[in-house]
Amino acid sequence: MDGSVGGERLATLVRMSEGAPRVRFAPSPTGYFHVGGARTALYNWLFARRLGGQFVLRIEDTDRERSDPAWTDGILSALRWLGIDWDEGPIHQSERRAGYEAAARRLFAEGRAYACDCTPDEVRARTAGNPVPGYDGHCRARGLEPGPGRALRFKVPDEGTTVVCDLVRGDVEFANATIEDFVVQKSNGDALFVLAVVVDDLDLRITHVVRGEEHLPTTPKAVLLWEALGDGRPLPVFAHLPILVNEQRQKLSKRRDKVAVEDYRDAGYLPEAMVNYLALLGWAPADGREVLTRDELVAEFRLEDVNRSPAFFDLKRLGHFNGVYVRALGDDAFLAASRPFLEAPDVPFAGRLDDQVLARLAPLAKERVATLSEVPDLVAFAFVEPFDPDPGAYDKAIAGDDAAPEILERFLAGLDTVPFGADGLRSVLTGVADALGRKLAKAQAPVRVATMGRPIGLPLFESLEVLGEATVRARVGAALARRRGEG
Ligand code: GLU
Repeated sequence: MDGSVGGERLATLVRMSEGAPRVRFAPSPTGYFHVGGARTALYNWLFARRLGGQFVLRIEDTDRERSDPAWTDGILSALRWLGIDWDEGPIHQSERRAGYEAAARRLFAEGRAYACDCTPDEVRARTAGNPVPGYDGHCRARGLEPGPGRALRFKVPDEGTTVVCDLVRGDVEFANATIEDFVVQKSNGDALFVLAVVVDDLDLRITHVVRGEEHLPTTPKAVLLWEALGDGRPLPVFAHLPILVNEQRQKLSKRRDKVAVEDYRDAGYLPEAMVNYLALLGWAPADGREVLTRDELVAEFRLEDVNRSPAFFDLKRLGHFNGVYVRALGDDAFLAASRPFLEAPDVPFAGRLDDQVLARLAPLAKERVATLSEVPDLVAFAFVEPFDPDPGAYDKAIAGDDAAPEILERFLAGLDTVPFGADGLRSVLTGVADALGRKLAKAQAPVRVATMGRPIGLPLFESLEVLGEATVRARVGAALARRRGEG
């Protein structure tokens, strides 16, 4: 069923894209905001912004059992966090039932839909083993009036094909004989999703429907409904975006993967990094650049260049992107972005932050983190009181190293011989390492654990300079005394 985008067709589609488009992002508020949804929102937004079009936000909350206003709030706040703003909406489908009912009545009145009182069991019993799956048209000619307990089904033409013109997938053709007479209104009067979407897209004068590939199979039904209800208005241009997959090439799923945008925000990813990364899930600029600002994305993004293959949602690559964006922040911006993480109630040094110390550690920390949630751990050594090295690190680097007492002792004595500062500290420890025939990195381990508590972290000498001479002496002295006391 796959076609290709080429020649005349492509030219037409691209021309259509050059007016001011009206697009919509239409999430269902039934759970956390999925990164795939964020990618869809972003592509709609980039497309609209470049062409001076409008981006409409529509909340598809017709499924009363699964929808929850709290999920809607989460989606709106995640969109705001990503800097994806909307020109109209949010429009709630739950408030638009009258329009769907009117459309269903019209379909019936015009002979495009018929009433059906078959129960699912009856349909199953009749159609088991049929070559074409789905409803068998049993009620088509029965002339039932609509009413309680009766669904309305769309009368799909028996012959011909329905073509979905898709900017990403080319012309996708569906033989009408394979499309069942689908329900447009349930027996309880609720509109089916596909009817609501078409009514809304028509009312909102949507020109381009950009959404996830999982909606492609229902799109011929939408095309049939649009033709029935659209009074001759041209169909929207469709663009079905490739699915996102994990490292095992499985579709990203809530159960297996970290998919909630909220989780990435809470883990300390920067919105600009997220936007840049999401933009590349299915698209890339012609010259292969990877780091693009929001303005560059708006200027360069082309819907018709989105590719069809599944896009790998690569956490390592996202971490890399985030690191690039973190390092590009000014120190003040870095600190401001890190604040919520540093001031979270569960940090072990809550209430003891010192802004001057923090300002001096910021340039060091900025170089070391992939996400902002790593910042508290990295700077904890400067604020935690009382300070104690991590037990495992102490056992390994100090208790477990025969040379540790001597290294610590010589380092302490060396402090008397140099002005206190990163350079002096480095030369002292280099001297100690030389004297003991050790590599500098190996000589650093006991000093690092004694003063900063861990075997890895911010650069040692610069960190000790910030910690200050008195604290460095006290911590090295304490570790030495403890080690000696332990024999
Ligand atoms: N509400 C659908 C979803 O959340 C989107 C439908 C559409 O874009 O047409 O997947």
